[in-house]
Amino acid sequence: MEFIMNELSYDLIVIGAGPGGYVGAIRAAQLGLKVAVIEKEKLMGGTCLRVGCIPSKALLESSHNYHAAKHQFSDHGIAVQGLTIDVAAMLKRKQKIVTVLGKGIESLFKKNAITRYTGTGRFVGETTENGHVIAVANNEGETRLTGKSIIIATGSVSSPLRGITVDETHVLTSTGALEIDQVPKTMAVIGAGAIGLEMASVWSRLGTEVTVLEYMDKVLPTMDQDISKNMQKILKDQGINFQLGVKVTKAEKHPEGGCVVEIDGKEALRPEKVLLAVGRAANTEGLRLDTLGITCDARGRIPVDTHFSTTARDVYAIGDVIEGPMLAHKAEEDGVACAEWIATGHGHVDYNIVPMVVYTDPEAAAVGKTEQQLKDTNIPYKVGMFPFMANGRARTYGDTSGFVKMLAHADTDRILGVHIVGKHAGDLIAEAASAMAFHASSEDIARVCHAHPTLAEAIKEAAMAVDGRAIHA
Ligand code: FAD
Ligand code: NAD
Repeated sequence: MEFIMNELSYDLIVIGAGPGGYVGAIRAAQLGLKVAVIEKEKLMGGTCLRVGCIPSKALLESSHNYHAAKHQFSDHGIAVQGLTIDVAAMLKRKQKIVTVLGKGIESLFKKNAITRYTGTGRFVGETTENGHVIAVANNEGETRLTGKSIIIATGSVSSPLRGITVDETHVLTSTGALEIDQVPKTMAVIGAGAIGLEMASVWSRLGTEVTVLEYMDKVLPTMDQDISKNMQKILKDQGINFQLGVKVTKAEKHPEGGCVVEIDGKEALRPEKVLLAVGRAANTEGLRLDTLGITCDARGRIPVDTHFSTTARDVYAIGDVIEGPMLAHKAEEDGVACAEWIATGHGHVDYNIVPMVVYTDPEAAAVGKTEQQLKDTNIPYKVGMFPFMANGRARTYGDTSGFVKMLAHADTDRILGVHIVGKHAGDLIAEAASAMAFHASSEDIARVCHAHPTLAEAIKEAAMAVDGRAIHA
């Protein structure tokens, strides 16, 4: 009995093996802690790997290739005859990528001597000299573990919407939309955020007539307004329909086939499929936080201080289950900083420079403040814009849409925000984030030699444009 107790006691127990949990676990193990991770799904990697970032990007890549072969290859003198899309093969490829990456996490756990428990973790409201007691339940029964520190990394789930009956066959969340096995004729997407626009792009490229219904008067409403305007125009030109400033009151499967979507004051739609993509909600279901006296905020998130500590001693929370952008890389940063805090007493994330990327084609990417946020807070700024139209590499790609917009402080020239619409914007934004982490000025970037011909030259030119001296525009 004594032996078993020792075996099941850990320095750190992480509940949830998403990008926050598994990365935090690895960092803690690197720092010498004895770590266990509890994950209820067979495959680790969380929402991001199983039903989020990775599968959506796999489908975006496949649908992009199909669309390019159909509409763009001829510009290059490449003729394609008998082009078809095999949706089953596309889904199989996506699943293979997910499985391979999931196995990768398993081997990282082995390498770092992390013990994985499969099952649902919950607090039982007890502490022993070895720490908090956590129960892990699965089909075979229940195991009890003790941890000196606990990290809650249980992520998020799709937010429901009143009047919308999700059945995952007709009315879908993103999880269902990643599994559609035939190209639907028509689809309504509720919400023009990241999920809405990415999934609208996938199915529209494959031939579905997609209508995006958005409550606000713009797409990607939290991004810089120049991004919102430009992306809407580009996606409209690609064939996606938008109804903005609308309130969907009902969406459900229709008895005569397909779905019905009712919109306040407008004609109802009868699409074959509906995707509900109006945000995600923190997931604390079944954790029994009440046994620790933890009360979630009005949006269901676990309140934490700047070191991820909850109100319960030695219990921490990270990622989508706490306040902040619901992004995989933010969850990873939380995981690393939280593990470092627990093991060393130091650990920090700079939430001012968390980049955000929307993987449409072209991509939209941003880091730092939007122009509106600077206006609202009376921060004096200068703007440098540079269009990809004037970038040589963009021409060779055959896609000159979009721009780089740099916002710098009017007095100090320090970069405050960078906003990009354009090919590979998601990769380009890393330069801006790094520069901002080093408190760079726009002139710093303007004076760095950028290789030619690259899309990154547009960042240098935008930096020069802050000072009114862009060369190519
Ligand atoms: P999660 O990834 O949600 O992981 C939580 C894990 O905890 C899950 O595996 C769950 O099974 C497990 N769990 C929950 N409760 C328990 C319990 N009681 N016991 C045991 N295990 C439990 N973000 C980006 O940055 N880039 C993108 O391109 C991107 N694309 C996305 C596309 C889609 C369709 C979706 C839905 C999301 C996307 N996101 C993207 C968001 C990203 O997936 C999340 O921000 C990220 O996964 C959050 O990580 P996390 O570790 O906090 O939680
Ligand atoms: P989101 O918050 O990005 O967008 C939701 C959209 O739905 C908003 O534009 C909002 O105004 C709109 N909306 C809200 N209520 C509505 C209503 N009743 N009717 C119509 N529209 C309504 O959420 P999402 O797109 O569902 O994504 C969920 C989370 O996952 C986000 O936090 C996002 O950051 C993350 N995610 C990130 C990526 C990425 O980084 N590329 C991709 C997918 C998801």
